[in-house]
Amino acid sequence: MAGLINAEPPANPDEYRNVMIFLESRNGELKKPGLEMISVGSAMAHKVNEILIGIVFGDKVGDMVKQAGEYGCDRVIGYESPDLKDFRTIPYATLLSDLIVELKPNILLIPATRNGRDLASRIAVRSRTGVTADCTELDVDPNGRILQARRPTYGESTLAEILCKRHRPQMATARPGIFAVPERNPNAKYESEIRKAKIKKEYLRKEIVDFKPKTTVDLTSARYIVSGGLGLGKASGFKLIQELADEIGAYVGASRPTVDLGWIGRDHQVGQTGQSVRPELYIACGISGKAQHLMGMKLSQNIVSINTDPDAEINGISDYIINADLYEAIPKLIEAIRKKKAELKKEAKPEADGKKKEVKEKAAEK
Ligand SMILES: Cc1cc2nc3c(=O)[nH]c(=O)nc-3n(C[C@H](O)[C@H](O)[C@H](O)COP(=O)(O)OP(=O)(O)OC[C@H]3O[C@@H](n4cnc5c(N)ncnc54)[C@H](O)[C@@H]3O)c2cc1C
Repeated sequence: MAGLINAEPPANPDEYRNVMIFLESRNGELKKPGLEMISVGSAMAHKVNEILIGIVFGDKVGDMVKQAGEYGCDRVIGYESPDLKDFRTIPYATLLSDLIVELKPNILLIPATRNGRDLASRIAVRSRTGVTADCTELDVDPNGRILQARRPTYGESTLAEILCKRHRPQMATARPGIFAVPERNPNAKYESEIRKAKIKKEYLRKEIVDFKPKTTVDLTSARYIVSGGLGLGKASGFKLIQELADEIGAYVGASRPTVDLGWIGRDHQVGQTGQSVRPELYIACGISGKAQHLMGMKLSQNIVSINTDPDAEINGISDYIINADLYEAIPKLIEAIRKKKAELKKEAKPEADGKKKEVKEKAAEK
């Protein structure tokens, strides 16, 4: 295994080809932030007639390698060893650095998760290159094959484009929840290779004795979200938000000030410093729609705003606007949903009764 690698910018950047992505895993399963990079990574690679190479580390990687290929990687390389079962910075960074020396990728993408950020910074230092952290847009210039890494800056008011013209690989971390996971295709064609990793004892400085998952609210995979903002006026307002959420099977989200005030836990926060979400339905109740909040939810498929201010910024991106006091609108909404559910149940009942009768008659015939 190599230690520090090329200290100078490469003499010939043209030797560096293809897009490489590091697919993070936990307990033998690929995690969503890694899968999210496949669509953007493969779009960039194919734009310049190159391929997308997925890298997977773990104890046993066969299933994950297959999964990565079926989700759209053109080539997948898996490294397996019991020492790679859990994320450990030094072994992971050393293996990935070695792969960079071997495969010379033009672009390397890593998810901007906690482990991904830890890994990316080390890889960048070892490779003597730069890394654009927490990107929300990624593209490649087809002429120079230069990565156009874009990320919000100045409190999300501006999108900065950062280029790394001299050093290779061009590295970026991708913000979780921004890029869509592609469709899985069991007939996808891809090359794959599983290698046995030998990890030097001195790299295993950290021993993982136990793993306790943090009981967080994962809003990133929620189908429906009902979020509350300062317009609630008080902590107990979240009871009403929860009631509406329960009625439609939604998760509860929140704006940052409500979290700062201690009205709800931090893992409910949506936005720049919270979670980035893209549910089918996002109902924003008493949320003004400042840039930092919109950053985390503007990709939702359908947005409903309930706000007393007809000029609230969130209305600008909403599909439906309820210009009303949330304490009047939400109970009415809950009532209407309950009524509709009861009607649907009534309609479904005679049909179900009919089916039961048919089954009984058939049984009697026999
Ligand atoms: C570096 C940085 C990072 C940040 N990160 C985040 C982040 O991740 N997420 C985030 O949310 N914010 C974040 N913020 C804060 C952000 O700038 C806004 O301050 C915040 O989003 C506003 O929250 P709000 O919409 O709940 O409150 P407000 O802006 O005060 O809006 C309250 C809204 O409620 C409406 N309203 C009032 N009463 C009622 C009622 N009875 N019925 C219906 N509507 C009513 C009002 O018309 C208003 O539109 C960040 C700020 C900074 C500087």
